[in-house]
Amino acid sequence: MSFKNLNLIEPVMKALTAEGYTIPTPIQQQAIPYVLEGRDLQGCAQTGTGKTAAFAIPIIQLLDQQKQFKAGIKVLVLTPTRELAIQINESFAAYGKYTNLRHTVIFGGVSQLHQTNALRRGVDVLVATPGRLLDLINQGFIDLRQLNIFVLDEADRMLDMGFIHDVKRVIERLPARRQTLFFSATMPPEIQKLAKSLLTNPAKVEVTPPTSTVDKIEQSLYHTNKSDKPDLLLHLLNEKRVRTALVFTRTKHGADKVVKFLLRSNVKAAAIHGNKSQNARQNALNDFKNGHLKVLVATDIAARGIDIDELTHVFNYDLPDVPETYIHRIGRTGRAGHDGIAIAFCDVDERTELRDIERLISFRIPVIEKHPYLPIPGAVPQKKVPVQRGRNMQRRKMTA
Ligand code: AMP
Repeated sequence: MSFKNLNLIEPVMKALTAEGYTIPTPIQQQAIPYVLEGRDLQGCAQTGTGKTAAFAIPIIQLLDQQKQFKAGIKVLVLTPTRELAIQINESFAAYGKYTNLRHTVIFGGVSQLHQTNALRRGVDVLVATPGRLLDLINQGFIDLRQLNIFVLDEADRMLDMGFIHDVKRVIERLPARRQTLFFSATMPPEIQKLAKSLLTNPAKVEVTPPTSTVDKIEQSLYHTNKSDKPDLLLHLLNEKRVRTALVFTRTKHGADKVVKFLLRSNVKAAAIHGNKSQNARQNALNDFKNGHLKVLVATDIAARGIDIDELTHVFNYDLPDVPETYIHRIGRTGRAGHDGIAIAFCDVDERTELRDIERLISFRIPVIEKHPYLPIPGAVPQKKVPVQRGRNMQRRKMTA
């Protein structure tokens, strides 16, 4: 199937050609016709599947076709993080560049002046994170009475990040008559309840992360000692002539430690995690995308949703407790047809996590037997406090 089969208007087709898109991704094939029909939608998909375009393209088309509409915000896209908000706004800019669409993005952690100025000039599509949105609504800068489409993006992550009450407060302010597009990677009970309360006779679309993506990624595993991980990372960055690497650590503190070590070793690196200011995170991301940084060290929550084209290497410096996270992490590389390389470190205390990951992916990650930082023979795991796996576990990790 090509985009030509989706009955898209000429200005949108032209923008897609400019972006180099010819074939809609599965979520786009499924979702675009429903959204164009005006149906509510429940989409089970995560970042990387093309879900932003799946809602942005038909929204742009619907707005373009309503030639005579009243001034005011017609579309609200609510998303959990600043990084995602910026990316979504950029997508509206890219796909809507041959239409008269006016759009802007608001998020917290920065001065509101620039944002309120943009709002005063008038926008059709507002992309927002929940806290800043409520703040500006309460200050009287935002009027949602003209709204006719509401997009809730990454609903499960809103829950994980503790934003669900803010989201509900925003929903209370929306006009009852509207089209709602609801996206979530997973559907835990609370999110199912929210979806039910928001959607009317929704069309349901679902895509799983393409396993073929994971198949295309060259995976390898290094057994090592916890204390040798920094040296092993440095060794591999040099030995493999790594151009760009995203390194995942378990904790924010761990991420900072790795960055300090790399900087001391003259490797340009920065960390992104929840303790960093929004500006610091965005700067680090921009520097990484521009090639000024070689290594970005991240915790899962900060990195989820970040889209970096041509990322060559992903390091699982620490193995994740939730096995699915491994797939999400390594899916960051090997995008858009590029080959990806995913390297995992496993110390003696992480053997259980490794076993769970391999069980999930039904694949034994090839072990690199020869390297300078092999584990001490006979090392035994330290006793760990047993943790309950599943949702609670994930929520605990999400604070990292
Ligand atoms: P998303 O899941 O919305 O974060 O999109 C993931 C990436 O896929 C982004 O870099 C998009 O620019 C890209 N993308 C989305 N749709 C298409 C498409 N139909 N063809 C090629 N690339 C796409």
